Amino acid sequence: MITAFIFIALGFATMEFSGWFIHKYLMHGPLWMIHKTHHQPSKTFFELNDLFSLLFGSVAVILIIKGIDTLDYRFWMGIGISVYGLLYFVLHDVLVHRRLKWFDRPKTTFLKGIFKAHQAHHRTNQKEDAVSFGLFVVPKKFFKDEEN
Ligand SMILES: [Zn+2]
Ligand SMILES: [Zn+2]
Repeated sequence: MITAFIFIALGFATMEFSGWFIHKYLMHGPLWMIHKTHHQPSKTFFELNDLFSLLFGSVAVILIIKGIDTLDYRFWMGIGISVYGLLYFVLHDVLVHRRLKWFDRPKTTFLKGIFKAHQAHHRTNQKEDAVSFGLFVVPKKFFKDEEN
């Protein structure tokens, strides 16, 4: 069971770190054409940028299917990626962007930090000069209460 937990954590961490990298160097780079739909006000519920979620979700589904017979590392990493995706959806899409109106503004220091860090990312709608590309891995200053 401990190995299952390690691979879940690994899948989760891989998403945050590769996500940071993909967001900074690809989405704000050669894939800006797709990602810019997330930095502009959108008139429709879905945006072209949602393709990235679909892509990451598919990776998780494929890993789970490949590993389900033996419950090997692929299965648990797929679960880790799914847990990350779910949290990403709740925090990024619902809490920060309010695509669904489930919550009001965050009140805890941790959630406020995530909220402010991602708002800082959206302060620009340009490809260049954006900051805080991760969801959880963001500069520590955002978690200091004085700044809220
Ligand atoms: Zn961005
Ligand atoms: Zn965003």
